[in-house]
Amino acid sequence: MSRYTGPVCRLCRRQSMKLFLKGERCFTPKCAVERRRGATRTAPRGRRRRTSEWGLQLLEKQKARQIYGVIERQFRAHFQEALRRPGVTGEVFLQILEGRLDNIVFRLGWAESRNMARQLVSHGHIAVDGRRMSASSHILQPEQVVSWTPQGRKGTPFEIAQQEARRRNVPAWLQMDPVKMEGKTLRLPERAEIDTQVDDRQIVEFYSR
Ligand code: SF4
Repeated sequence: MSRYTGPVCRLCRRQSMKLFLKGERCFTPKCAVERRRGATRTAPRGRRRRTSEWGLQLLEKQKARQIYGVIERQFRAHFQEALRRPGVTGEVFLQILEGRLDNIVFRLGWAESRNMARQLVSHGHIAVDGRRMSASSHILQPEQVVSWTPQGRKGTPFEIAQQEARRRNVPAWLQMDPVKMEGKTLRLPERAEIDTQVDDRQIVEFYSR
């Protein structure tokens, strides 16, 4: 299944919640979900369709996939990897998703959204341990260093990231040097440190059928 290229706000509307796929715009009243909330406060409520257990699990899986911007084939491969690793499968699965290079670039605050982070990676602007890495699905291990390539440092995204670097909060499991513009994975994130609003147990149930 290929990557979704339609309007991303539609994905939020389908899930009836904010998935934060558009960076700064998601925090403004222009957000499509906020606008809809405003409209439904005054509009009469329609009839709701009941969703089956499988349907709810599917929705949860799709939500996580859309938040991290991963195509189905890769998403399933990450889940298979989580099954092979020791630990609670749902938590390990989220750790794998968090360890993706595009997510790390986003978490370091170098891009407004995971979509933009993915572009930085695919355009060759990001390096891992000093080597250019253009695969956003690359999973980082603890103690790996993420930086900008010489080519990446020449562009506008780098200038913006540099200006924003000091005001961004980086999760406790990552480290960021705003002078060198280098990030480091200190360890794997704990479940409580992952703020993604998904029920990982539902996803495990979905793939376990
Ligand atoms: Fe979703 Fe952001 Fe669009 Fe709001 S602005 S609907 S949170 S992508």
